Amino acid sequence: MQFKNEIEFIKNLYGNKDFIPLHEPAFLGNEKKYLIETIDSTFVSSVGKFVDQFEEMMRHYTGAKHAIAVVNGTAAIHMSLLLAGVKREDLVITQALSFVATCNAISYVGAQPAFVDVDNKNLSMSVEALEKFLLNVELHNGNPIHTPTGKKIGACVPMHTFGFPAEIDLIKDLCDKYNIPLVEDAAESLGSLYKGRHTGTFGLFGAYSFNGNKTITCGGGGIIVTNDDELGKLAKHLTTQAKVPHRWEYVHDYVGYNYRCPNLNAALACAQLEQLEDFVENKRETANRYKDYFFNNEFVEFIRESKYSRTNNWLNAVLLKNNVQRDLFLQETNDNGVMTRPVWSLMHRLEMFKGCLRDELTNSIDIESRLVNIPSSVRK
Ligand SMILES: *Cc1c(COP(=O)(O)O)cnc(C)c1O
Repeated sequence: MQFKNEIEFIKNLYGNKDFIPLHEPAFLGNEKKYLIETIDSTFVSSVGKFVDQFEEMMRHYTGAKHAIAVVNGTAAIHMSLLLAGVKREDLVITQALSFVATCNAISYVGAQPAFVDVDNKNLSMSVEALEKFLLNVELHNGNPIHTPTGKKIGACVPMHTFGFPAEIDLIKDLCDKYNIPLVEDAAESLGSLYKGRHTGTFGLFGAYSFNGNKTITCGGGGIIVTNDDELGKLAKHLTTQAKVPHRWEYVHDYVGYNYRCPNLNAALACAQLEQLEDFVENKRETANRYKDYFFNNEFVEFIRESKYSRTNNWLNAVLLKNNVQRDLFLQETNDNGVMTRPVWSLMHRLEMFKGCLRDELTNSIDIESRLVNIPSSVRK
């Protein structure tokens, strides 16, 4: 076995269990207490104290002015794009290296993704690639128009891959220059900071996910953050069926969405948020152990935190020297109880997004061929 030592190291790191999952949830705090409290109160559904508390905790944690709890991260991105004013036939600039949910949300508003490359250090949207794409964009009456297609750029959606922050301040500057709304897919990066500020809070909107495989989970859930008072209010309104407040009348003033986060899930989220900083500390220590171990490894390069970043280390990742090595590493680890996974298929390869605009995607294609995620759960 070529990767015997690496497998032994990972097994040892996670207490020599028979099977080491890629990322499992950790429920070490008030989860059961809050869940029982929710059931006893009968308020398990659309309203309840934990929904309010979840939103308040997220405002406090991220520093955003508004936080709106929703049913999942995909809905958070969808609603953000809708409120950013993205229209049918618009182009939305994003990464080909992302989970499919980003592109699905873009499709829900009838827009089309346009793929730019990622940075080979932080795996997130490349500033250089964005800048190059924007050479083909001109402002017409204040609207950013992609000259070759005549289409409007509705938004730009960078994603902080595996929790590694993009150079989001520079991306924001470029978006501002071209009058393009910035929506951050921060689904994987809750707890990650860039220049001391939370990822997800640089754009007009940020979207977080609390799915089962993320750093913290509430079963299923999402949060939209924004500093815009009007849009923040509208986000809450539209995600809760757009009902005009009244003691008994049912009046609705928009086509609304049933995107609310149930109180039951919010209870779980509150208990998990209480532990988030401890989890991030724990995960950072694990990443440091990996970094030291893989230092100068013959076959494997560990992806390290970039400048100005504090990553949440949601998923640790290594690059193999070539794709033959990648497949062997995947095979040997998975055969021996160490769960590892390759990165997602690039979005432009999927049937639905085959015809979409894209650049050369040089880094994305290289990363796709060599990257493997390695076990990253909180170590108990
Ligand atoms: C998990 C994830 C989402 C979607 O979140 P859900 O809560 O599962 O809907 C969106 N984008 C990225 C990049 C993700 O990893």
